Amino acid sequence: MVELDPILRGNKKDRKEFSCAIKIDTMINQDFCCNICHRGFTKKVRPHFDHIQGREDNSMSNCQALCPNCHNNKSVNENREEAKKQKERSTNIDINTKWI
Ligand SMILES: [Zn+2]
Repeated sequence: MVELDPILRGNKKDRKEFSCAIKIDTMINQDFCCNICHRGFTKKVRPHFDHIQGREDNSMSNCQALCPNCHNNKSVNENREEAKKQKERSTNIDINTKWI
């Protein structure tokens, strides 16, 4: 028997944007496993509810439950991508404004 409440409470660092109903449906759809590595969630391996694309969309289709490890890896990759984009943007601005 899976104890829903402590598992669904998730990690303290989780942003509280997804509704509880969406979290429950996501967990059921994923069979209480991480959506990337498929490791089962336990009291020790709490799910992190992740926005698949962008944090503005809190709908069911944008929600996935990840284990802390996969969530961390995804965030690191996303932050790296964002830093790269920002660097490109600032480089573009330099090129466009240098000779004005
Ligand atoms: Zn995982």
